Order: sequence, then C-alpha cells, then structure tokens
Amino acid sequence: GKGAAMVTAVAYRLTEQARQIQQTLAEFRLSKTQLLEVKKRMRVEIERGLKKDTHKQATVKMLPTFVRSTPDGTENGDFLALDLGGTNFRVLLVKIRSGKRRSVEMHNKIYAIPIEVMQGTGEELFDHIVHCISDFLDYMGMKSARLPLGFTFSFPCHQTSLDAGILVTWTKGFKATECEGEDVVELLREAIKRKEEFELDVVAIVNDTVGTMMTCAYEEPTCEVGLIAGTGSNACYMEELRNIEIVPGNEGRMCVNMEWGAFGDNGCLDDIRTKYDQAVDENSLNEGKQRYEKMCSGMYLGEIVRQILIDLTKRGFLFRGQISETLKTRGIFETKFLSQIESDRLALLQVRAILQQLGLDSTCDDSIIVKEVCGTVSRRAAQICGAGMAAVVDKIRENRGLDHLDVTVGVDGTLYKLHPHFSRIFLQTVKDLAPKCDVNFLLSEDGSGKGAALITAVGCRQRELDAQ
Ligand code: BGC
Ligand code: MG
Repeated sequence: GKGAAMVTAVAYRLTEQARQIQQTLAEFRLSKTQLLEVKKRMRVEIERGLKKDTHKQATVKMLPTFVRSTPDGTENGDFLALDLGGTNFRVLLVKIRSGKRRSVEMHNKIYAIPIEVMQGTGEELFDHIVHCISDFLDYMGMKSARLPLGFTFSFPCHQTSLDAGILVTWTKGFKATECEGEDVVELLREAIKRKEEFELDVVAIVNDTVGTMMTCAYEEPTCEVGLIAGTGSNACYMEELRNIEIVPGNEGRMCVNMEWGAFGDNGCLDDIRTKYDQAVDENSLNEGKQRYEKMCSGMYLGEIVRQILIDLTKRGFLFRGQISETLKTRGIFETKFLSQIESDRLALLQVRAILQQLGLDSTCDDSIIVKEVCGTVSRRAAQICGAGMAAVVDKIRENRGLDHLDVTVGVDGTLYKLHPHFSRIFLQTVKDLAPKCDVNFLLSEDGSGKGAALITAVGCRQRELDAQ
C-alpha cells in the first residue's frame, strides 16, 4: 500500500543521493593513466624552466640556488637561522661542530606573525622579524656577537648568488606590499640597520626544500632531493650545471629550487582540476597562481573539502541542507583536523565530536560522508604529489644515463608528517610511476633551521677561500 510506496521512495532517494555523491567524488579519483600524464607534463615543464629560451615564460621556474654540493662534515661554527614561510616563524641558534665528534646543537624560539603583519607593508613585516631576532638574542645573551645568519625564506626567489634573492611572488598566506621584485636579503639588512641594536652578517638565503635536502644529506650522502609537503608544496634536487642554461658553467651540479607549486598555472592541469579547485583558487590571496600547490598542500586541502561540503549541503545531501556560518569560514579545516577526521582509530562518534568542535552539527550519515570527502581529496593530493616526484627522480636517473637509480629524498612538512595516509599513498605512487628508481625517503629533523646553518657554514668557507 501507501506505506510501502513511501519506503521505496525514501530508499530510492537515498541511493540516488549516494550515487550523486559518488559522481561528485569520482572527478577526484585519478587513474594510473592520468597520473602518468601528470608526471609527463611535469617533465615538460621542468625542461621549460631549465632552458634559456623558455625560462622566462616557464611556470615551473627551476630556480638556481648557488648550493653546489651537499655537506661533507667539515662545517663548523655558530650560526643564526631564520625560518619564515612554514607553519611557524622561528629564530634559531645552531652550533655545528666538525671532526670526529661532529654534532649539531640547536636552540630556537617560535614567534607569531599576526595576519595584519603578513599582509601589511614590507617594512612592517621586516621590522617585526628584526624585533623577534632582537628578542631572541636577548634571550640567548648574544647581542654583541655579530653572527653569520642563514635566512630560510620559503617563497620563490630569483637568486644571483647565495646571499641575494629577489622575491618572484608571495605564496600561501603572505601578501606584504613592496616586497615582490625586491631582494629580500637587502630588506632584512635594512631593517637590521633601522633597529640600530645589533649587527648580523646575512650570508645565505635558503628555500626550505634546500634546507631539508642539506639536513638529510648531512646524515645520508645519497640525499640529493628535498621535498616539502606542508602548508605549501615544493621540491628541489641536484641538477647538472650543464642543464641549467641560465647559469654559466658546465661542470658539476647545482641544487635547483623547482617551485613546482606553480605547475599548472599555464592551464596544463585544467583537465583534472574540478570546479571545487577553481573555487578554492578564486577565494585565495593569489588567484591563478600556484594551482598544483592548491591541489596538494596543507593550506588548501581543507579548503577543497569545504567547497565540496558546501556544494553537497546546497544539494541537500548534508547537514540537513543548512549552510552554517562555520562552513562559510575560510580556513576552518586545518591539516590537523583533516588528519584527525581521517585517522583510522577514530570511531564515527569521534568524527562527529570533531565536527562539533568546529561548530558543525552532524548526523551519523553526515560524518560518514565528510570522512569520505576528506579521504578522497587527500588521496588525490598524495597521488599528484607522487607523480611530480616520479618525474624528478626519473629526470635524475636519465641525467646520469642509468637504467636504475638509488636515491634518497629528504622530506619535511606537516602534511607529510601529521596526516595518517598522505605519506603512504605518496610513496606507493612514486613506486608505481617511477619503477626504475629505488627511492628512499628520510624525514628531516628541523631541516629549515639546521639546513640554513649548514649552507651558511659552506658560504662562510667559500668567502674565506675567495678572499685568499
Ligand atoms: C613556496 C616554496 C616553498 C613551499 C613549501 C611554496 O608556497 O613557493 O618556495 O618551498 O611553499 O614551503
Ligand atoms: Mg618549514
């Protein structure tokens, strides 16, 4: 009778709803063929970045770093390091000792950078940085030491030497005025002068990927690649100097900061980008830029999830069709929440508790859907990041004319370290897409700080040699 018909109708609506949700998520599920295509396109962009004729228009910039070798254990001295552009801003004192008992000792302090400062004027930003250095030197009792400093600055910079870097463009959450197109080492030196409290010798500007590679290479000499899968996404590796056409010389190698986050900015990934990726891009501080990064780094994964949830809610599949203020808030799903939601040890009730904490009232069905959305988005992130890495290791293998390459990649970043599935899926993808490479991944301990100090040490030594 009537009752049975209604039950059937409800059941039909539910299966139809499930079908539509799956259809939405299907766009995020990439086949091996598609991933191989991503790898191939990354390789094309790598070549364009390296070649003189195409470098200017290239989206993947392949920036020279003037780091010519990995550490050899003879690095020695006391150094200051700054780490700007990751999850935290830090000032560090790093004591490196060479010889039989080589060691690295570190002291560091985390400082907040308020959003108004990240997105204010360049002068305010650098004054704030110098204020934090001043506090740190007081805290360590080292104001009068004039230490050499390595500046880990995790943004794309055009380098013409170890201690000069022109900011190409801000990325992630930064947007301070009057910095793009400027040498950030000079901006730092000027701010130190304005303060008139202490002197420092800024020796090197270092991308976080390079710091990570150097830190791992200090322990493991086969490490020739650095990867950050955190707030942002990027990689560096030791390239043959002869292939880096914008730097003179043909002998030996130089580390290249790929800036692969900008992969896709010329539209080459448009066929796999979804309308949710486009919405994330439109809502960001840097529309049209860093499109690959926006598909695979911690700062944006939660945003993709949020866009999907908004859409599913509008279509009446979630949260009883009600879009709450919370759901409209940019940045609510930080990596740590996604990591919790996707944790296998968590019961659905706990997923609901997390959503509740965020201010989202969910039913049991809602929480199942949310978890699946998160899982689908982070899986795609790990896979396309793996496809990028497969392109890199295969490039190194071909550079050396090898049928088989053993290589170590130093890795850092909150997404890689905190997320319950990202690293596993990433590793599996690299294995599947670059079968001729045996890639060993090494987690870096505090790569940005230690690495900057190691590079600074090498820079100081080079200076002494040049002076002779
Ligand atoms: C920056 C890179 C950096 C990466 C990871 C990106 O947004 O452009 O320079 O290495 O984030 O921090
Ligand atoms: Mg970092």
